[in-house]
Amino acid sequence: MVTTHNLGFPRIGAKRELKFGLESYWKGLSDQETLTSLAAQLRALHWQQQSVLDFIPVGDFSFYDQVLDMSFTLGNVPERVSGREGIALDNYFRVARGRSAGDSDCSCVHAGEMTKWFDTNYHYIVPEFTADTAFNLDASRLLAQIEESRAQGHQIKPVIIGPVSYLWLGKSKDASDRLALLERLLPVYAELLNALSEAGVTWVQIDEPVLVTELSAEWKHAFTLAYHHLKSTPVQLLLATYFGALQDNLQLTCELPVAGLHLDAISAQDEVSRVIDWLPAHKVLSLGVINGRNVWKTDLNATLEWLIPVYQKLSSRLWLAPSCSLLHVPVDLGVETQLDTEVSNWLAFALQKLEELQVLATALNKGRASVEAELTENAEAIASRRNSRRVHNAKVKSAVAELDSAWGQRASDYAQRATKQGKLLNLPAFPTTTIGSFPQTTEIRQARQQFRAGRLNTADYTTLMQKEIQRCVEEQEALGLDVLVHGEAERNDMVEYFGEQLEGYIFSQFGWVQSYGSRCVKPPIIYGDIARPSAMTVTWTGYAQSLTQKPMKGMLTGPVTILNWSFVRDDQPRATTCYQLALAIREEVLELEKSGVQIIQIDEAALREGLPLRKSQWQSYLDWAVASFRIAANGVKDETQIHTHMCYSEFNDIIQAIADMDADVITIETSRSDMELLDVFDDFRYPNEIGPGVYDIHSPNIPSETQVVKLMKKAAQRIPVERLWVNPDCGLKTRQWDEVRPALKNMVAAAQALRKAY
Ligand code: GLN
Ligand code: ZN
Repeated sequence: MVTTHNLGFPRIGAKRELKFGLESYWKGLSDQETLTSLAAQLRALHWQQQSVLDFIPVGDFSFYDQVLDMSFTLGNVPERVSGREGIALDNYFRVARGRSAGDSDCSCVHAGEMTKWFDTNYHYIVPEFTADTAFNLDASRLLAQIEESRAQGHQIKPVIIGPVSYLWLGKSKDASDRLALLERLLPVYAELLNALSEAGVTWVQIDEPVLVTELSAEWKHAFTLAYHHLKSTPVQLLLATYFGALQDNLQLTCELPVAGLHLDAISAQDEVSRVIDWLPAHKVLSLGVINGRNVWKTDLNATLEWLIPVYQKLSSRLWLAPSCSLLHVPVDLGVETQLDTEVSNWLAFALQKLEELQVLATALNKGRASVEAELTENAEAIASRRNSRRVHNAKVKSAVAELDSAWGQRASDYAQRATKQGKLLNLPAFPTTTIGSFPQTTEIRQARQQFRAGRLNTADYTTLMQKEIQRCVEEQEALGLDVLVHGEAERNDMVEYFGEQLEGYIFSQFGWVQSYGSRCVKPPIIYGDIARPSAMTVTWTGYAQSLTQKPMKGMLTGPVTILNWSFVRDDQPRATTCYQLALAIREEVLELEKSGVQIIQIDEAALREGLPLRKSQWQSYLDWAVASFRIAANGVKDETQIHTHMCYSEFNDIIQAIADMDADVITIETSRSDMELLDVFDDFRYPNEIGPGVYDIHSPNIPSETQVVKLMKKAAQRIPVERLWVNPDCGLKTRQWDEVRPALKNMVAAAQALRKAY
């Protein structure tokens, strides 16, 4: 018999119940009891929904982030919050967000750094280390959830992050070698595994996704050390790898002394037979055969055909699972009532993926005949997608075929463009601007929802949005900003907004995926060739420009970001889809320019996150990603100033690609790095203009004028002042007006002080 299991389940809730619970707690509108009982309800529901599996995951639920949970389990809590009185959960939120429910300003601390979880759009809170970091087990969260799930009668498998990945994911705050902490860390892991065993646990899933990345000899050695140390643990370890192939770590991984290995058989299908050869005969091999990163139905017949010989070899040593945690896909296709039925028949969300898993397992365990109907239905869905006219657009395909490098080339180089733009725009030194969005107030959200639901007609909706734009413009005028934005009130999301106006896209109602904490995104789904039937932003931008003499920045999302934040097709290369998007955005850019817009910002917030996990594959990604941006941006005349924006980015290893994009101005997130991020631009002699973010928009803390001046002075040590802009780290949509107003006021005052100082 094959064993089925799951690596992790989305915790946010099919209707984002956890998000709303968290936010109401943070606002002080509900108490801890309400929040914890909501969490228990969600866990109970999710376990019950997974209960057809032989093992369900426990410990994958999190109030904010599973890596932060692990930090608390290991007692690695930053000093700035330890020793505080009060509820533990509040300290947890302080690390996550800088403050917790009911914190008065004086109890704010700086939030833990957040970064991308591998190549996904999930962000985790980076563990902080110093040479003195000590670990101390606190298994209470896991033990409580184990007890809870047992009481509900489930067969469970706790999920933890493995010691090597835990260290690898963290950051040393004092330049000490974090790997040196392994020795101190391992006894705590051993203690944890003992505690789990005492709680009656037999299998523990220990996630070591860093095994799919390029590891130095030291890190490889750390694996050997760690798992030999944990060898005598009383529980059986299922070492989970995902998001890629093991490649040169394959032998190492297979030889680690654990009871089982999980391999992502979607991205590492080619490795399965080698793994089977290498894997000692007593070990379980779990194959992730259902894609946990996309929303497409699995071709069950093809998968089954491939699995049968594998099963013959492994028999009961074979386990089946999704490729990775289902955290990265929406919960339930079943709650979607408005999807186009043809396309929705091609889709599978988390619950449907588990059903697929069940069909495969049943076919292997009981024979094909027992699931004949399901397999036939699946074959029909797969064929319908492959042959659908909705997917293929000949005009778009031939436009992509005609692309060459001339499409991405501007007429003149940056220096010449800058002179022309300077004359036209006539901006002061240290020009101030924002990244695009302004607070999305309740009224704005309500108006959009009502419009969508058909309760507000187009005329009334337009009037409401125009009012918001007007308010936003007036606020910016009053603040004295130099380059204004319309505020993005009409946009639910920077990708969905564009996707909705493009052909080849479909939208779910509840297809939310957690991005960080309570923040979710609803990635639109690209199912077919991309075309732009009409202008997407020109009217709103034009209206905003009509209200002011100051330059109004047109605001677009770039092709690479649209791609990386969408669920994409799995039937053509990502590059091809990206070029299709680039052509669509290019048409928009040119139409904005034609309408008189002088500055156009094309956000590429997600450029870096599209990087493949392995460096050896970076260049080919960067080649087509940069080419796509250039196709989108560079059709304009010299006088038109192109901005781009990137957040959460490290630039050191992609600075050449960033420079190759050749945007006139780039705004980036730098405040949390204290401007250190600019060193790479300095060292590289980055030739164009830069707006290093001067304050962190993820935290409600308001920067003072002095802080901003100080940061900009640091920036000025690295970048010539005539090429510096002053702006926040990112868009302001998640903030309140009474946070934004004083923050920008101080920012503008700082820019004025800087103009005097230089
Ligand atoms: N223009 C977008 C905004 O301001 C950019 C958001 C982002 O970079 N994530 O909201
Ligand atoms: Zn940003």
